[in-house]
Amino acid sequence: MARVLLFSDLVGKIVAVLLWSFTSRDALGFVLFFGPDLFVLYHLFVPSGQWLCPAITEFEPKGKEVWLTIDDGPDAEDTPRILDLLDEHGARATFFVVGERVARWPHLIGEIVRRGHEVAHHTHTHPAGSFWCASRARLARELDDTLAVLRTAGARPRRFRPPVGIKNFFLATALEKRGLECVGWTVRSGDWLAKRAEDVVENVMTRVRPGAIVLMHEGANLPRAVRVRAISLVLRSLTDRGFRCVIPAFTQTPAVVREDGRTKLEPTTLPIGNSASIVR
Ligand SMILES: [Zn+2]
Repeated sequence: MARVLLFSDLVGKIVAVLLWSFTSRDALGFVLFFGPDLFVLYHLFVPSGQWLCPAITEFEPKGKEVWLTIDDGPDAEDTPRILDLLDEHGARATFFVVGERVARWPHLIGEIVRRGHEVAHHTHTHPAGSFWCASRARLARELDDTLAVLRTAGARPRRFRPPVGIKNFFLATALEKRGLECVGWTVRSGDWLAKRAEDVVENVMTRVRPGAIVLMHEGANLPRAVRVRAISLVLRSLTDRGFRCVIPAFTQTPAVVREDGRTKLEPTTLPIGNSASIVR
């Protein structure tokens, strides 16, 4: 699909140049020259854009189920506390971990898996600003370096989330080659920017619904007032409202693109004590 997008972009530019050279239809030329660029940029930079790399943005729930995802770990301080909170609420979560951080605290990976959660891939260096333009070689390093440290730590991820949800022209092919499925989100908690944990709870609880993927973070880059406490309060609110935090099952063909252009994961199950990420 990336090739189709880029080819259309190129054709638009050629037609625009021909129009400018041989006709006076300048306005149409501008539309054809820049219009496809906007389309490409949308699917590159807007996390819900599906054309460059399909990403799961919701799942088929069995009742009041949500999928809690926690990015940017592991963290020596936060991860153990979050694991305790998840235990308290009988909740399951997916941890999208950064390879460099896994190399610092590999024992946390085993602990996440042992406690029944899923370990997933979130690049090696978290290059949020340059991921979109990474070359094939650099993209391969970002993926393979983390796969290697996770293998050493005892886990094999099946899911991937790009930094800040930004795609890359070569991402879809690279993920497919490595058996990784791309996961976006339904509800962005806003914990990165929030001043108070209560604001994060409001962000989540006003938009959460069965089948939603909730995006949260851990680690020292979060505001001090929000760190871990936001996850604690969100878990409490979800429990109070009767939601269960589950990990949807893996599928052979995870990205089912629906007619409305969104991608949905189906079917799903609730694998208690999920061990899909353990190397056996
Ligand atoms: Zn991240």
